[in-house]
Amino acid sequence: MKIFGIIGNPVEHSLSPLMHNSAFKYLNIDATYFKFKVDFEKLKYAVLGADSLGFCGLNVTVPFKEEAINYTNPDKLAEQIGAINTIKFGKKIEGFNTDAIGAFMALKEITEIKDRNILILGAGGAAKAIAYALSKYARIFIANRTFKKGSDLAKKVGGESIKLEEVFNIIKSVDILINATTVGLNEDKSLLYHEDLHKDLIVFDLVYSPVKTRLLKEAEMVGAKTLNGIKMLLYQGAASFEIWTGIKAPISIMEDAISRFFDPVY
Ligand code: NAP
Repeated sequence: MKIFGIIGNPVEHSLSPLMHNSAFKYLNIDATYFKFKVDFEKLKYAVLGADSLGFCGLNVTVPFKEEAINYTNPDKLAEQIGAINTIKFGKKIEGFNTDAIGAFMALKEITEIKDRNILILGAGGAAKAIAYALSKYARIFIANRTFKKGSDLAKKVGGESIKLEEVFNIIKSVDILINATTVGLNEDKSLLYHEDLHKDLIVFDLVYSPVKTRLLKEAEMVGAKTLNGIKMLLYQGAASFEIWTGIKAPISIMEDAISRFFDPVY
């Protein structure tokens, strides 16, 4: 049996096992996908250990996407982004980034991206992938708790950095607001509230646990259009699946598995 998995901390909320196991079952692939909570200082051993144990592939989630690249041979895209979310084991340990395409496809389904003003909250692994993907088409603003990290990312993608406390100064001119921080993950918190938002915004929260985060609730209060992290999860997962198996991902089967999770009577 082929072994796949996701490493992160926290990782309990991850729906990747559900999604990938449904795809393996549908395609009669003898494989199983597990979730593994990894201690913060043991990432290297987790990656090298999985390789030694004959794992076929891993996804990498919060907070390891930037560090994990150091234990892989990244492809060109992952190297340019500076973070990975997918590892393929074989003769080499290969690193890939499918967050960029996942976020792009999810956002593109609900809005035009070209020439928009996009404010990204965060500068971690996911934010790096999104900033990279969107900066080719749109004007990017980055606001991160650790300002230096945000300004480094903004410089890299040709965007502008602003202090997190000062996003109010530009929010009126923002078309798309993206939360790429861990704020809201398994908690009822948000970096921005309804009084900070406006109805013409599209608010995309990468977090999908809970499926409607506090930020998305606040956005709905002002009539803004919202997008949760489920579609991104689906598209990045499909891209990882294709890297590992070389087979076209059964997207509708994977989406169905996630939908059943959120709606058991579905
Ligand atoms: P990460 O690399 O650990 O980055 C975390 C980011 O959150 C950093 O920018 C960090 O700022 C910021 N942050 C953490 N706590 C904060 C706080 N209290 N106030 C303000 N900022 C704070 O994590 P990641 O891998 O980029 O993931 C970010 C989020 O995206 C996670 O919730 C993850 O689940 C979600 N995600 C979803 C998908 C999907 O498919 N839907 C894919 C990827 C990621 P500092 O730099 O100051 O520490």
